[in-house]
Amino acid sequence: MKQRTILEDVVLEGVGIHTGEFARVILRPEPEDHGIFFYRSGVRIPLSPEHVVNTFHSTDLGSEGVVVKTVEHLLSVLHLLRITNLTVEVIEGEEIPILDGSGYEFYKKLKALVTDQSEEVQPFRLPEGEEVEVRHGNTRLVAKSCPCFEITYEGEFPNFIGSRKFTFRGNAMEVVLARTFCFDHEIEYIKKNGLGKGGSLENTLVLGRDGVYNRSGLRYEDEPVRHKVLDLIGDLYLLGVPFKGKVISYRGGHFINYQLVRELYKRYAPEGGVVRG
Ligand code: UDP
Ligand code: ZN
Repeated sequence: MKQRTILEDVVLEGVGIHTGEFARVILRPEPEDHGIFFYRSGVRIPLSPEHVVNTFHSTDLGSEGVVVKTVEHLLSVLHLLRITNLTVEVIEGEEIPILDGSGYEFYKKLKALVTDQSEEVQPFRLPEGEEVEVRHGNTRLVAKSCPCFEITYEGEFPNFIGSRKFTFRGNAMEVVLARTFCFDHEIEYIKKNGLGKGGSLENTLVLGRDGVYNRSGLRYEDEPVRHKVLDLIGDLYLLGVPFKGKVISYRGGHFINYQLVRELYKRYAPEGGVVRG
């Protein structure tokens, strides 16, 4: 698998879903063996499980007190496109813009600019026959060794979505359009926690018992389940390099995704981790 970067800078801007503030981010190409870094206020934050500072309603990275919030959808697209050398510079605000709540705009802009580099990247693999399981409350994640990249989510929603399972086997278009979601009855709690200040029907699917509040409806009939797959692909990229293997999530979210990543990293990351640069 070749290392990859992009051909030119990409600018992304818009509101942050949690801070509600305008954010401007520049994605910059980087040379071979650089890896992925975030950069804000003069601080460089490597893409690594050691720099996760929050998983409550988003995955946030930080170092030396500087935080970049809500990295998961951008990370998911970087993972799907296997971009391995990049700097994500946050010029304004402290959050990755939410855009339409999915990974689509990141995907559209970056796909046209991806370029192979000459060096190889070693993906993160579980040794053959190995399996790692993490549990928390009624959520469970299992990772298995496999030469494939296959991500399954089994959800159970107390509304019209019901019990649903979706498996990603490599077709990015089956997940990149899926938007972030919340339950109507959750909104007050989220706001009480000082989050969701930039949330709206323009960037969030709001689920009621019998349907969605968004007038344009669902993009896929199991859109929330596919969004959970998008999130998990993003959180897996916290490993710092593309993941090879199978993961099955039972009702998982960012918290347990991160527990899995930490466990994988602890057990199988090469000496000194996989962070470069
Ligand atoms: N949820 C659910 N069924 C599922 C997965 C999640 O009802 O299969 C609920 C979960 O209980 C929570 C909401 O969906 O109220 C958001 O999920 P989670 O806490 O996992 O969110 P995240 O970590 O992705 O922000
Ligand atoms: Zn998400």
